[in-house]
Amino acid sequence: MKSHARVVVIGGGVVGCSVLYHLTKFGWTDVVLVERSELTSGSTWHAAGGMHTINGDPNVAKLQKYTVELYKEIQDYSGQDIGLHMTSGMMLASTKDRFDWMKSILAKGRYMGLDAHLLTPKEAHDLMPLLDPDQFVGAVFDPVEGHLDPYGTTHAYAKSAKKNGADIYLHTKVEDLVQREDGTWRVITDKGEIIAEHVVNCGGLWAREVGRMVGLELPVLAMEHMYLITEDMPEVIEFNQTRGKELMHCVDFDGEIYLRQERNGMLMGTYEKACRPWSPLTTPWNFGHELLAEDIERITPELEVGFRHFPAFNKAGIKKIINGPFTFSPDGNPLVGPVRGMTNYWSACAVMAGFSQGGGVGLALANWMIHGDPGFDVFAMDVSRYGDFATLAYTNAKVRENYSRRFSIRYPNEELPAGRPLLTTPIYDKLKEAGAVFGASYGLEQPLWFAPKGVEDHFSWRRSTDFDTVGAEAKAVRESVGLMETSGFAKYAVKGEGAEAWLDRLLTCRIPATGRMTLAPMLKDDGKLIGDFTLAKLGEGDFLLIGSGIAEDYHMRWFETHLPKDGSVTLEALNLALVGLAIAGPKAREVMQKLTHQDLSTPAFPFMAVRRMDLGMAPAIVGRVSYTGDLGYEIWMKPQYQRYLYDLILEAGAEFGIKLFGLRALNALRLEKSYGSWSREYRPLYGPLEAGLERFVAVKKDADFIGKAAAKAERESGGALRLRTFILDAKDADVIGDEPIYLNGEVRGWVTSGGYAHAAGVSVAVGYVPKEIADVESGWSIELLGEILAARPQPEPLFDPSGAKMRG
Ligand SMILES: Cc1cc2nc3c(=O)[nH]c(=O)nc-3n(C[C@H](O)[C@H](O)[C@H](O)COP(=O)(O)OP(=O)(O)OC[C@H]3O[C@@H](n4cnc5c(N)ncnc54)[C@H](O)[C@@H]3O)c2cc1C
Repeated sequence: MKSHARVVVIGGGVVGCSVLYHLTKFGWTDVVLVERSELTSGSTWHAAGGMHTINGDPNVAKLQKYTVELYKEIQDYSGQDIGLHMTSGMMLASTKDRFDWMKSILAKGRYMGLDAHLLTPKEAHDLMPLLDPDQFVGAVFDPVEGHLDPYGTTHAYAKSAKKNGADIYLHTKVEDLVQREDGTWRVITDKGEIIAEHVVNCGGLWAREVGRMVGLELPVLAMEHMYLITEDMPEVIEFNQTRGKELMHCVDFDGEIYLRQERNGMLMGTYEKACRPWSPLTTPWNFGHELLAEDIERITPELEVGFRHFPAFNKAGIKKIINGPFTFSPDGNPLVGPVRGMTNYWSACAVMAGFSQGGGVGLALANWMIHGDPGFDVFAMDVSRYGDFATLAYTNAKVRENYSRRFSIRYPNEELPAGRPLLTTPIYDKLKEAGAVFGASYGLEQPLWFAPKGVEDHFSWRRSTDFDTVGAEAKAVRESVGLMETSGFAKYAVKGEGAEAWLDRLLTCRIPATGRMTLAPMLKDDGKLIGDFTLAKLGEGDFLLIGSGIAEDYHMRWFETHLPKDGSVTLEALNLALVGLAIAGPKAREVMQKLTHQDLSTPAFPFMAVRRMDLGMAPAIVGRVSYTGDLGYEIWMKPQYQRYLYDLILEAGAEFGIKLFGLRALNALRLEKSYGSWSREYRPLYGPLEAGLERFVAVKKDADFIGKAAAKAERESGGALRLRTFILDAKDADVIGDEPIYLNGEVRGWVTSGGYAHAAGVSVAVGYVPKEIADVESGWSIELLGEILAARPQPEPLFDPSGAKMRG
């Protein structure tokens, strides 16, 4: 065994072998994989081996596409047969709602160049005669699907990596990981010790245990999963003989089953409602190549629907039932990337679809380790998308929910109930009493809208029960004044004598003077956006940075990596140690002025001013800014003052008819200003010029901020894309995001977000298009739920284009 290696990959399942292969492919060949048994000894060996490209998240779909396209390469390079069957596949819908959902997935695929299309039930039956067409309303055909041999595939990755110089140690168990003072790792195995610069947790079923070796509790849980294999079926044999090909893959969403051909019979699996976690607390080390006891009763309700939808199964004998465990994160996506607060401890676990995603995970992780960046937008898979709220019990609740809903529709307005409420702010009960319908984001309950008594969210693709009420909330802001809770933003206190210089290097903006705020984009080395913040200078060496709540851990990882080691800067993610309220609307100042003796007139407290001030008896930080685009104030306070301030503001606002508003009204309002938001318009895919943030990128400032050279280059070249706002001729539904944008009938861009702008009375879509066509005035349309709707560019904000109201 080697005593030193650049990287030790822990775990020889399909994911570990893919990571190893990609590292060697990109030139890191001093790498070792350590496997406690034989390769594939976790969940990999009993997988059904199915793979596909389509995914609800286009960024994940891209990595799945990469994975599927990689198989030929590793088979040829390694000489190992991977049993590849590219059969194509279809997704089936039994209800209109489901078909709407499929159309939205199909539309998302459109701008990625996915070659899928809709089928009628009859067309679906012609392609897959085992199904009963009367049970379905339609289907989506996907040519890029198939299955392969899990054993052969894992070995093909491993052989390819070995060919490139990697070592693989089988029957070698990592028992502990200890970091040395110089940052390298002692990888302590039952066969000796390896000193490594980097360790990668590809522990699969044991990923939790490999996390615990360094004091981490990764949000990952294994679930039992069953599929059955039938005896030979005459219908299958006949199809193969007459058509000269295999039957294709099917996912029957309403039956909650998937199926494919297996030799001369069929394989049918299900994500059952009566699901069961496996080894919820610890995974036994002596678990290996064994299966779990079959439990057909648990999957009977799903199989009954499956057998009704595919009647040939009723006559088929069942040869085998496989029950094996595999792992999930709370949202079902992998946990990939560097772990915050650790040096060179990498995660590549919770990969629930190793054969659709394993290649992409290996590619992203190898890029990240070698080049410091995954090379794609992998936020949906980033291990940093969970904070400390993702405990063992939270994970258990969410994974069970996710598994049992694997094939369920998630409506755009649907909030899932498991693991809630967990984090609440002091005014939670008051908001609830006022009718708040909450959504949970990064564990925190946040008001979406305030429902009248007896009205609740009806989940739908189309405008729903909240439409008029959200409209009234938005209009109240535009006409008078509204109050909302803003505690869900991430808040960071940055202090110390080195704080200003550090922020100057980290952020692209000019550092504001004391008492002022500014918008503050943050870039990676390649000039793409990695954050957008509001930076407030409260005093010398005293800054408050406000950013996206879901990205708190993601941004902290970045900040901490770049923090000077000399102690000149202190950084704290305040989370709920600082909570927020915001008021906005033409009457906002009159309300605020009732709470303080300080002069709030524009000359004394102009737009983008910030100051510590008492409101009534409560100390607060007040900034004159509003994401609604209206005259408004953001108010930050310690949690113990929030109840008091909430009551005080409502009381002061009563004479103006102050109204509570939620995140949905806020979305409607910010669309009228074409304001972007993190994770939609602003992502690591886009440059600041493309995203319309160039005025906050001070290329002329002295500080050599991260991404400066690339930002200058973007300015010279003009980048590739432009963010644009469109008004859509929508009828009863509005865009959500990821819909294709057409120019003269050709897909040229994609929507990032949108919705109904209630105060303006129009449906808005925001999205990216190539810069060359960005200012074309006509010929635009956007696909929404299978319909192509006319769209017209909206070059200036719908509300207050001159900014007079906001600044006045
Ligand atoms: C019944 C069933 C059907 C499935 N069907 C499909 C499908 O059709 N398509 C699909 O894409 N996916 C499918 N899956 C899921 C798929 O199996 C997983 O996504 C995949 O196996 C995950 O691979 P992995 O490498 O992350 O983990 P694992 O396969 O669990 O590998 C982890 C490896 O790490 C080793 N290890 C752990 N700890 C240590 C240590 N301390 N020291 C040394 N070695 C260690 C283990 O021995 C193991 O070999 C299915 C799973 C099941 C159970």
